[in-house]
Amino acid sequence: MSDWECDTCPFRIRCGQANEGYEDVGFTGLLPGVDRYRKHQLVEYFDAYPDAKLTPTLAHQFPALAEEHGVYDWHCPTCGGTYAWDAIDIEAQSPLCERCVEDDELCTVAVPMPESQNTH
Ligand SMILES: [Zn+2]
Repeated sequence: MSDWECDTCPFRIRCGQANEGYEDVGFTGLLPGVDRYRKHQLVEYFDAYPDAKLTPTLAHQFPALAEEHGVYDWHCPTCGGTYAWDAIDIEAQSPLCERCVEDDELCTVAVPMPESQNTH
């Protein structure tokens, strides 16, 4: 058990106990870019939300879960383009949309925030 975990809430990172800047996110879903979920938490999450998918960050960590449940694509809010989860380097702080870059626009792609994830 690591120090951020608590027994009662598998997503304590959202309880405001963890300093991730996501304290106000009141929705169910996986937080993009956060890799601290444990496998058993994710298994429980998918039990509760069979339509949910993994974030690219977690897909790199749990390839078997990625294969089983799918992964959210990257999406460019500017041009509407989408990119496969493994087409973007997750190490990049602000991955750029290649299509927009070709038009001299530096737009970053993102995965859906928890409120847009398909968890209902
Ligand atoms: Zn774009």
